[in-house]
Amino acid sequence: MIDTHCHLLDESFNSDRKEVIERAFAEGITKIIEISVEPSLWQGSLDLCRRYNNIFCTFGIHPHDAEKYVDYTHLLKDEKVVAVGEFGLDYHRNNVDKKIQAEVFEKQLDIAKKINKPVIIHSREAEVDSYKILSQYKNLRGVVHCFSSTLEYAEKFLALGYYLGIDCPVTYPKADNLRDVVKNVPLEKILLETDAPYLPPQKFRGKRNEPSYIKFIAEEIAKIKNLSIDEVSKITDNNAEVLFGI
Ligand SMILES: [Zn+2]
Repeated sequence: MIDTHCHLLDESFNSDRKEVIERAFAEGITKIIEISVEPSLWQGSLDLCRRYNNIFCTFGIHPHDAEKYVDYTHLLKDEKVVAVGEFGLDYHRNNVDKKIQAEVFEKQLDIAKKINKPVIIHSREAEVDSYKILSQYKNLRGVVHCFSSTLEYAEKFLALGYYLGIDCPVTYPKADNLRDVVKNVPLEKILLETDAPYLPPQKFRGKRNEPSYIKFIAEEIAKIKNLSIDEVSKITDNNAEVLFGI
């Protein structure tokens, strides 16, 4: 299984980062993608993935940090940097002016286009505007990370060619809408992501999430789609390998 989205540089992993990584590999996680969300994390991210063959990273500026935007095109050439992101729009916390969020979103889409790497889109309570912006960009590929919108928008993003990132909220009792999305979209368009340390699975609500918990997402999707966990991991691993070239 591949965890296509986590934040291992988060300080909640400071005391046991190595153990968390080793536990993930021991439990059958084969590859991990470490997502950076702001410039001060990029070097650390790269250092981490140089230490492990099967950890890859991405560089991006999260909408919460949109005001820290700098052009980072030149940093993306390293072969361990497999995507641009996460970036996008966040109207939930909405701590940065929507206009600035949109500008910084577009700048990073331009970077991805120039460098020809996939994008990791953060879109929270902002699907209408995210879709509007993404639909103006042709020939980009990527994932709408931690998908949390409606089936209608799931289908719209799929039609643009994007994958949907499915996270541990799919295991929450109240997540019928998300389970309905999973049921109705092809497994060939789904990526598994923990977003660790955030959003732990139901079994560990209130605790720290970690990459080895990706199995709870695979298990839930297997149940929804009436497949084996092996089939779910085989297909979603292939999706990740194709999209990120890993
Ligand atoms: Zn994230």
